[in-house]
Amino acid sequence: MRLVRFRHGDRIATGAMDRGSEEIRILRGTFFEDPLPTGETVALIDVHLLAPVLPSKLVCVGRNFVAHAEEWGLAVPEEPLLFLKPSTAVIGPRDPIQLLPISRRIDYEGELGVVIGRLARGVRAEDAFKYILGYTCGNDVTLRDLQKKDDQWARAKGFDGSAPLGPWIETDIDPNDAIVRTRLNGEIRQQASTADMVFGVATLIEYTTAFMTLLPGDVLLAGTPEGVGKLTDGDVVEVEVEGVGVLRNEVRG
Ligand code: MG
Repeated sequence: MRLVRFRHGDRIATGAMDRGSEEIRILRGTFFEDPLPTGETVALIDVHLLAPVLPSKLVCVGRNFVAHAEEWGLAVPEEPLLFLKPSTAVIGPRDPIQLLPISRRIDYEGELGVVIGRLARGVRAEDAFKYILGYTCGNDVTLRDLQKKDDQWARAKGFDGSAPLGPWIETDIDPNDAIVRTRLNGEIRQQASTADMVFGVATLIEYTTAFMTLLPGDVLLAGTPEGVGKLTDGDVVEVEVEGVGVLRNEVRG
């Protein structure tokens, strides 16, 4: 099932779609409190899709693919290398990625986004999937020059618009073997299976919740494959997670 958040006219609503269907069943309430169908439907083509969730925070994983660590000449961490993006980093699947004058090098990083479904604290890896609502596509947009300059990455990875999410949440994929693919202006630049991640989704949830509570709607960005690269004004970047969908954002200078 696909869970969508959208604007229709002046109303913001949530809905559910079957895979392959273009009809949204409008729901009452949030995804996290057993939402009920209102009985209303609306066509996907008639709505403006929004970021599927508004997380309190995003927990992101650095260098979780060996080939990506190697492309920077860096070692793979022995434990997950985590950093945060704030709620204000999130933009939706129709929003532009805005270039910033403080940086000369802004990069895409296509990633699997894991959406937490219920409060998670001290979760064991074998129980982790009970805490997951579903999966979305994420772009860990990075000011690469500032990431190299700064010891901490609040600027480089936490700026407004640094976390495009969408186009929706898919509840039924295997996150341990999902292809993550990034296209820049239609050309494939990144492609790998999450099976190649150093730390899998369940391990990441156990590791994180040992010290930080994850709330419903929080998002884990699981790390990017090799092939990251620069964005320039007018580019179109698409992050696809097979079985989920395609997150497409234009870049504006
Ligand atoms: Mg990343």
